[in-house]
Amino acid sequence: MPTTLIWYRQDLRLCDHRPLTRALELGHQVVCCYVLDQTTPGKHRIGGASKWWLHHALSDLGDQLRALGGELILRSGRYADVVPGLVEECEATALYFSRNYEPYMSDVEQSIKSGMDQKGVSVRRFSGNILFDPDMLRTKGGTPFKVFTPFWTNCRTQPPPVPPLPAPESIRFVKRQPESESLADWKLLPNAPDWAGEIAASWTPTEAGAHDSLEQFLTCSVEQYSEARNLPAVKGTSRLSPYLHYGQISPAQVWHGTESALAGTQTDRKGADTFMSEIGWREFSYHLLNQFPELPEKEFRRNFERFPWKKNSRYLKAWQTGQTGFPIVDAGMRELWATGWMHNRVRMIVGSFLVKDLLIPWQQGAAWFWDTLVDADLAANSASWQWVAGCGADAAPYFRIFNPILQGQKFDKDGEYVRRWVPELRELPKKWIHNPFEAPSDVLTQAGVELGKSYPKPLVDRKVARQLALEAFAQIK
Ligand code: FAD
Repeated sequence: MPTTLIWYRQDLRLCDHRPLTRALELGHQVVCCYVLDQTTPGKHRIGGASKWWLHHALSDLGDQLRALGGELILRSGRYADVVPGLVEECEATALYFSRNYEPYMSDVEQSIKSGMDQKGVSVRRFSGNILFDPDMLRTKGGTPFKVFTPFWTNCRTQPPPVPPLPAPESIRFVKRQPESESLADWKLLPNAPDWAGEIAASWTPTEAGAHDSLEQFLTCSVEQYSEARNLPAVKGTSRLSPYLHYGQISPAQVWHGTESALAGTQTDRKGADTFMSEIGWREFSYHLLNQFPELPEKEFRRNFERFPWKKNSRYLKAWQTGQTGFPIVDAGMRELWATGWMHNRVRMIVGSFLVKDLLIPWQQGAAWFWDTLVDADLAANSASWQWVAGCGADAAPYFRIFNPILQGQKFDKDGEYVRRWVPELRELPKKWIHNPFEAPSDVLTQAGVELGKSYPKPLVDRKVARQLALEAFAQIK
């Protein structure tokens, strides 16, 4: 019986897994593997919080395969060495995998394929963790899209994603599985210190956890999504991002799950359509990364290469640790550190603050997010940071500078989100919760707030910062 090696990457699931299902349909026996390569990705090797997630996702997939009589074979080393080595070791005649869109991966996939072709091993690359093949989507002029709205309009005219496949009921594994390294030896979890306590309490990083999150969202939140998705104190979004990144749920499952939840109900489509357009932003990020592989490092709008960014380690540290003196910014940065996730509205506010109020290069913000987000995703993170900084495709104009006080007052009206993450401001009345530095001294005293001691004074004078940002922008216009 022919053996197929199934190479898992960002598709850590059993359901809707085309490479695995196809191999089984063909009557092959399989070996399932995951390779940890922290060399090939260079500076985009997996960050700290994402490693925590990966550990649990692998452990879950391993458990599921074990329940079906097999194993997930773990190997570490360079993809280009380890994958062909495993093919040889298990005498596989086929190698199947889902496409990965990280820029360095296309070379890896190509070189592995060439080597396998020479050995007569059949290689099949299935479409990856997105809905629409980025190579197929083109404007009327035949060029890749640079603007989101026409991109998403075009996606909506494509045939809908193929319905998801069920998990296989049984899998034919090879009789003698190759040896696996131990997951614990990979040390993906932090130990000294173990900073992941609150992350662990916030998430269920399994394939079942992904489906529960989708179901919960579709049952409780999708109808109000259009409004609630902007309110960080409310659980109004799906929190699917880390599951989507690691492919514990496929975007096709999310698409069809949403459609079937609506089918035959009176539910207004507005929330679901807005939700799908956010999935569309994810698609757009991959489309951009595919056409512009330098997206994680270089500005999409080339004039920004001349932008007079300032490197300031004191400002950067204050931002990273949630000590800027601007409550909504500090709340977001502390939520990120504690849970490995931050609400999208607040990601935009903290991002704008870093690049426009502090003039720190967006790449430094992206690097911090890369290390601290459980959903760190090269396409979404790079495209979103470039969007925030004004240098991306279809980006927010640079001169539109978020005012963190007004943003807080608008989207966290009662200050509930700030009170949760910045407890030293808890007793402040809502009038001053987003601008404690403007509060009368007796109000501060009564709330037990001593600026500069219990809570920092603002890192910058916003009026001055705004002026400096506009002057910097004028230099590159
Ligand atoms: P929902 O609102 O429920 O949206 C559903 C899904 O759509 C998300 O899970 C996500 O996969 C996708 N999505 C939503 N908004 C966006 C967006 N603007 N761009 C791309 N995809 C989107 N998202 C990541 O997945 N990884 C990142 O590394 C990442 N970095 C970001 C950095 C910055 C500066 C900003 C402003 C946004 C970033 N985002 C990133 C996008 C967005 O903030 C998160 O996807 C979203 O907050 C995840 O929460 P959710 O799953 O509840 O989203």
